[in-house]
Amino acid sequence: MLQTVNGLVLRQVRLPSEGSRKLSILTNNGITEAFVNGANRKNTTLQSAAQPLCYSQFVIFENRGSRSINQAVPIELFFELTNDIERLSLAQYLCELALALVSGQDHNDEPLRLMLNALHLLSKNKREPEQIKAIAELRLMSLSGFMPDVLMCAVCGSYEHERMYFLPDEGRIVCAGCFKGTERSCELNRSALTAMRHIVLSPTEKIFSFRLGPGSQKLLSDASEAFLLAKTRRNFAALEFYKSMKRDNGEQSENESEQQ
Ligand SMILES: [Zn+2]
Repeated sequence: MLQTVNGLVLRQVRLPSEGSRKLSILTNNGITEAFVNGANRKNTTLQSAAQPLCYSQFVIFENRGSRSINQAVPIELFFELTNDIERLSLAQYLCELALALVSGQDHNDEPLRLMLNALHLLSKNKREPEQIKAIAELRLMSLSGFMPDVLMCAVCGSYEHERMYFLPDEGRIVCAGCFKGTERSCELNRSALTAMRHIVLSPTEKIFSFRLGPGSQKLLSDASEAFLLAKTRRNFAALEFYKSMKRDNGEQSENESEQQ
């Protein structure tokens, strides 16, 4: 059976037979795995369409549960990412995140729309990488059944407070009045909490439409990453790599400003 699907390549794994690859592709219906046969290694259009971070149209032949790719044409390559190692490493982390959180049976087009929007904004430099990272983490977690309860204080029910605390192990918030100080927590100011609510509760097409100052962004980033790591209980190699790139870039710009 032949089928045509559009999808984003999240991962490409080399197989022992020469030129063969296994792809993990995020489609409108979750993640599908398909093989590129070594015989296709001179088909340059197919090869470029099968690269990680490429959004492509695939013609897939399915036989007894095994899927192989007959043809593929790239639709969007996000090629600007290759000019910036920090943004590229974040894009790779987003792919690792989607691989961990989206299942193969997920008949929901939101993860794909989220990833395409995130990669577009990242490649065009239209949002800060840290903002894109926090949005992708919180939203993919929410779509995968780990939606944090950020509406009101879990103890007294208040919506607004100068300071709220996010409890990453529980995925809930408590106000400063109810906070005991013994739980693992991430402080949230009003802006960071409003952003968190916006990411979790708005329709997908609106989740990137906000701006935060650097201080509030840092609070949001810390809370979202702590929540992700607490719930998934695993390491993300691409996250560590992204952080090391970010550190190097930070040190470089510090040195440059010292020299001026
Ligand atoms: Zn309270």
